[in-house]
Parts: sequence; C-alpha cells; structure tokens
Amino acid sequence: MKIIAVGRNYAEHIHELQNERPTTPVVFCKPDTALLKDNAPFYLPDFSQDVHHELEIVLKICKEGKNIDAKFANKYYDEIGLGIDFTARDLQNELKAKGLPWEIAKAFNGSAPVSNFVPITEFPDLRNLSFDLLVNGNLRQHGNTSMMLFDFDTIIAYVSKFFTLKKGDLIFTGTPKGVKAVHIGDRLEGFIDGRKFFDFEVK
Ligand code: MG
Repeated sequence: MKIIAVGRNYAEHIHELQNERPTTPVVFCKPDTALLKDNAPFYLPDFSQDVHHELEIVLKICKEGKNIDAKFANKYYDEIGLGIDFTARDLQNELKAKGLPWEIAKAFNGSAPVSNFVPITEFPDLRNLSFDLLVNGNLRQHGNTSMMLFDFDTIIAYVSKFFTLKKGDLIFTGTPKGVKAVHIGDRLEGFIDGRKFFDFEVK
C-alpha cells in the first residue's frame, strides 16, 4: 500500500506557514514504514528539534483506478479515518529554502499514525465533517471539511492522474491551522464529529 498526502489544502494553514495558495493540490507520498496503527506511541526522531502535528482526515481507497473522473471519485473510497501527518518542520524549511524535495521531513518512520477506519455511510455529510485534536486535553487544532480548497473527489481525480490508486491505499487530505511542535510525554487525542478516533502518546 502507499500513502498519498495533500499539502496546503486549508487556507488558514497556508497563511500560518506563509505559503502560496496552490492552484492544483500539492501532493507528496509516504512509504508504508511511515504508518503507525492501533494508538501505538510516536517516537520523536533525533534529527529534528521541531516535529509538528498536522491533523488530517484520511480516505481509504476501496478499488483500483487511475485517471478517475471527479464525478465517479466517490466510488473509490468507502471508509475514512483520522491521522497525523508528522512533519519535521526545521528540516522541511531547510530543504524548501534550497529548493530540494522535503521527503525526509515528511515521510520518516512513524510519521503517519492513523486511526481505525469507519464506513462513510456513518457520516451524514462528508463535506461538513468537524475534526479536532486535543494535546494534553487542550484543543490544539479544529477543522471542518467545508473549508478545504480541494474536496475529496477533486483530490482523488487529481492524484489518480499520476498514481494508480489501489485498494488499501490511504490519502491524507490536508491540515487546518494550529500546527505546532510535539514533545515527549504529550498525549494526542483525535475526534471526528465529537467521536474519538485516536489516542496516543509521544515518547
Ligand atoms: Mg499535512
């Protein structure tokens, strides 16, 4: 399986990192070794002093497809979950400044914790999902899918032009504002529409 992620998909987050607003989705990949499941702890890597959480809704692909038309994109995912796109911000900024790919700042071991996945039929409106991150019990990030620049179907149509999607692939759909560094001992709890999806610790 592969993990595809979209960057700069919420306007206020683009603003907080002083990035340009994209005209097409900004896309990158993480290998399967980035995956963390079942509330396993996240171990802070030693190559960064500034690892940020980015809370994101994650789509799970349910059938193979490429060059998918946005009209039919909703047939290609049947479950959603919640994940963190951990980002070594100091390293990413260095690489960005040099015009180099940010792969190692985004795709390192354990950089993609994901919750269990739930059928989309359990949510009344995917374009109005509210999601929250608590760090040590305090609200740190709040988002709503109505604020996405590129919606789920547009993302699927776009990324499938370049990457054939396969059953089991995951797509991280971007983070709202509020990204910040995590520290050893932090407890991260994620919610969609008030329902708890993950609860894990930083070690
Ligand atoms: Mg992200």
